[in-house]
Amino acid sequence: MLAVVAGAHAAPSAAAFDRLFLQIDDGEVPVDDDAQIASALARLRAALPPGDARRARRYRSVVCDVSFVKDSRAGVAYARQEFAEAQRAGDVEAETRFTYCEGFALEATDPAAARRAYDRGLALAARAEDARLLGDGYTYRGGIASLQGDHARGLQDFLAAQAVFDRAHLARRSETNLLNIGMAYRRMGLYRDAMGYLRDTETYARRIDSVPDLYAALMQQGYAYEEQGRAREAVAKFEAALEVARRSDAIDRGYAQLGLANGWLAAKAPERALAAVAAARRELAVGDIAGHEPMLDEAEGRALAALGQPRAAIAAFDRAEPLMRSQQTTRYLALLHRARADSEEALGDRSAALADLRAYIDLDKRLQASADDQQVQFARLRFDAGRRALEHARLDLDRRASEQQIRALERQRPWRWTVLGLGMALLAALAALAVQQARESRRLRVLALTDPLTGIANRRGLRRLAEDAFASAQADGRPVSVVLLDLDHFKRVNDEHGHAIGDIVLVHASRALVDALRPQERLGRTGGEDFVAILPGTRRDDAARIAEKLRGAVAQLDISQLAPGLAVRTSAGVATSTAGDDRIDDLIGRADAALYRAKSAGRDRVCMAD
Ligand code: GH3
Ligand code: MG
Repeated sequence: MLAVVAGAHAAPSAAAFDRLFLQIDDGEVPVDDDAQIASALARLRAALPPGDARRARRYRSVVCDVSFVKDSRAGVAYARQEFAEAQRAGDVEAETRFTYCEGFALEATDPAAARRAYDRGLALAARAEDARLLGDGYTYRGGIASLQGDHARGLQDFLAAQAVFDRAHLARRSETNLLNIGMAYRRMGLYRDAMGYLRDTETYARRIDSVPDLYAALMQQGYAYEEQGRAREAVAKFEAALEVARRSDAIDRGYAQLGLANGWLAAKAPERALAAVAAARRELAVGDIAGHEPMLDEAEGRALAALGQPRAAIAAFDRAEPLMRSQQTTRYLALLHRARADSEEALGDRSAALADLRAYIDLDKRLQASADDQQVQFARLRFDAGRRALEHARLDLDRRASEQQIRALERQRPWRWTVLGLGMALLAALAALAVQQARESRRLRVLALTDPLTGIANRRGLRRLAEDAFASAQADGRPVSVVLLDLDHFKRVNDEHGHAIGDIVLVHASRALVDALRPQERLGRTGGEDFVAILPGTRRDDAARIAEKLRGAVAQLDISQLAPGLAVRTSAGVATSTAGDDRIDDLIGRADAALYRAKSAGRDRVCMAD
């Protein structure tokens, strides 16, 4: 073995060293296991020209990156010592590499310190004006942010890396980074963006025939579908991932089986889920199974619950819960609570079921809130970055245009064309930035106009919808109607079942109302438990019919799974615009008076404004 490796050694030469160094850096020469590491280091060492201090540092930076996976402290010590040496020699590139290496060593033990190391490394990479190092630094820092659950910041870094790689035409890095971006979008719940990047990763992986990349792209798409409740598509992706995993011994098929189990559960096929869990237990490597035991137990529990075996299901959930809690797998923990509540309910243990249901609602809300937070934060980060870029471009435009103008004037040429040409190019750049900024601020606007609990328009959003509808109705000489709805005795729901259940009821009610409306009819929530429907082009008698349909939709809501016997009703007031109305508020005032009459007349009814 050694002889073979030695035989492959090239004579020391700067060109051979640089070529091999680049291949290792690009992942073309793999360093995934001890044998590969030993071989790569031996070849690189043999190619190192004697007395070449700069390349010797590059060599030691590879040593640093690959040698201390299991000994964080030794890795940090080595990196710092080499960093000091590089600093004395004024070798900024090596300073950057050893700073990153310190970051790798710290990732497992002290992620916050690793992040700081990447911050320093990025500043050095910028000084070294090295696009690879700069882009790589962004991916490292993005990785650590994602690991810490800060997906907005992670995504921001991955996108920055992408811009650097694309500008420097580092195609391979750019393409491998697609997966990072897709995963970050997925974790933020921005599935449309996520799927685009993940599909691109799949295409790229198929083109270069990379089994690990293809596997990762398929698995990530599976998770994304599963999280969106698109069960069949999730199953198809996990099955494809499993197929790919069968082509390589290096890939653990157990993950795909576990994904498949969750996909089958979402598809309401518990027997198949159970079979996939069993296969996952067989296929997960012995070293890996411990960490995944709770996920396997959780999936098994849900399958057993669905198969009507509540006792066995609860036992599986109880095994899974403590570790899942410490692993912070919030989404699956939420699913566990909901499924265990059903099993407890089936066994007649009402109080345990209620406790689990509360835990589920709590976790579900937290998940939603954290996804919202991440999206808002990301929109804000992008917005700031976009604005800064726009300002820079504008300054640049001013400066360059005036320089150009002066020079042109000096030369006594028909300068107007040059300035105009330059202006056009910059104008195009500005326009592109403006489009991006508009897109971002649209997202911010959507967030500001949406009620976070129900996802429908909030008071501000509603006002805008109502005013627009009123204005176009006036312009077209057509009527517009509004329906005000207020849930009956909603305070009792909160008092008897708790505020969390009250919130869930509000979500169900808003969905039922939206489902009962046509697309051009809009619903908003003005605050507490009252909703407003805007009905453009709708006459009084049609509005009455629609209001009655809305009342019926709420009355027919089946929310007894939240608490036995729980039901809600609603009262509604309806008003239609007339020629005498100047403002939408005139209309809303009349609808409000009608709603008041509906309440006084005994609730659960529709009243029309006169
Ligand atoms: P009615 O309208 O039939 O006269 O009786 P009500 O009990 O619904 O009337 P009221 O308007 O006095 O009470 C509204 C209640 O709605 C008060 C508050 O507890 C509840 N509420 C308002 N906003 C929310 C919310 O966001 N979540 C929950 N869970 N409850 C809310
Ligand atoms: Mg009410």
